[in-house]
Amino acid sequence: MVGSGPAGLYAADALVASGDVAVDVLDRLPCPFGLVRYGVAPDHPKIKSIAAALRPVLEDPAVRFLGNVEVGEDVTLEELHQHYDAILLANGAPADRRLGIAGEDLPGFYSAREFVDWYSGHPDAAAGPFHLGARTVAVIGAGNVALDVSRMLARTAAELSQTDAPQDVLRALDRSAVEDIHIVVRRGPVQAKFTTNELRELGRLADAAVMVDPADLELDDPSHAQLAQSPGARRNLDVLRDWASRSPDGRARRVHLHFKLRPVEVLGDSAVTGLRVERTRLLPDGTADGTGSTYDLGAQMVLRSVGYRGRPMPGVPFDEASGVVPNVAGRVVEDGLAVPGVYVAGWIKRGPTGVIGTNKRDARETVAALLEDVPTLTRAPVRDPEELPRLLRERGVTPVTWRGWCAIEEAEAALGRSRGRAATKIAGREDLLAAARSL
Ligand code: NAP
Repeated sequence: MVGSGPAGLYAADALVASGDVAVDVLDRLPCPFGLVRYGVAPDHPKIKSIAAALRPVLEDPAVRFLGNVEVGEDVTLEELHQHYDAILLANGAPADRRLGIAGEDLPGFYSAREFVDWYSGHPDAAAGPFHLGARTVAVIGAGNVALDVSRMLARTAAELSQTDAPQDVLRALDRSAVEDIHIVVRRGPVQAKFTTNELRELGRLADAAVMVDPADLELDDPSHAQLAQSPGARRNLDVLRDWASRSPDGRARRVHLHFKLRPVEVLGDSAVTGLRVERTRLLPDGTADGTGSTYDLGAQMVLRSVGYRGRPMPGVPFDEASGVVPNVAGRVVEDGLAVPGVYVAGWIKRGPTGVIGTNKRDARETVAALLEDVPTLTRAPVRDPEELPRLLRERGVTPVTWRGWCAIEEAEAALGRSRGRAATKIAGREDLLAAARSL
């Protein structure tokens, strides 16, 4: 198994349940749980607690965790075939989609992924504190990630104080000058991808108001038709209409939701100073078209939250257009033929959609395909499970085992206790590896 996020662990669980199978779960990070640890926002402890439900998978004697091992870098896929009868890739979608507009590389422009990595304490995150001296931030996109990053920017220090976010992140967010956050949505309220619980949460922040222009909620004919088919969109619209009927109430921060507005240029010479946006209208096919009417939103930081993409892995086919590994029900295919012994699950299989639970069904489908293929799989020549760790150590790579992860957990709990909370994340890779060695 390559990847210890929900997709990988649900697949490992299904494999082990099928009978006499030993599963190694490799992860390029020293820590398991993928997006549960490094994607779910720190202020969502309930969703984060899914890690506790996934824990028994890695504690199963038939499963071995090997963290800090990057397939394609530390060991090739070809080499893995020497050790495993089948390889299941569940390595997610760690890259970003781009907008393709001018100014996307200006200082002050970031992908939401970079920002999420930072506040989640991801070992590969860029050093903060981003442009938190900004008074106004624009967030592009209408998905739950756009809500996550906006909410994290809008929360007070007191609201964040009990989270497991790294201390320097909490300090930087505490000092943030952000007052206005503009969420820029290219289509209408009915087409937004937000889920209602997450949208509603934006209205429950301690010291931030949500602002919606009632004119943005006027629906055209295609939206009326779509609304009739979508209970989720109806619930979202109720929430938005409620906000649109309120007047500003003097809170320290404001989150503005703008619909039917698309970004056309990031403004600024040496750093972001604003975002040029264009009003849109919906076409009958449901896409947004520019109307030619533009205006400039002042902003000193812009976050692009328009979805993730898979990243190609050496030796594995990859579809550039969709950003996933081509597959049929989890069997990797190239030129219409199955690649023997290689499978995919999760976002690298279906793209970056769905909630964590979606991966359970997805992983089971892949495991069913794999189990069906067992009679035809080529048996790996190397049967000693100690051979791969030995090879890695020869290359200067020390895998983090389950025991090592437990030591990291304990170190994070101790750090948290010293600050009066349940845990504080350790962010740096070297610090994580040092903590893993401490048991
Ligand atoms: P997403 O739900 O696919 O949303 C992406 C957004 O970007 C869409 O609103 C899309 O608009 C917009 N977009 C794409 N290209 C654009 C462009 N060129 N210009 C302007 N807007 C553009 O993706 P996500 O927010 O990254 O979330 C990924 C997945 O994780 C989702 O399934 C999400 O529900 C899940 N997630 C769940 C939670 C939670 O449950 N709490 C938290 C975070 C993430 P169009 O619709 O017009 O294309």
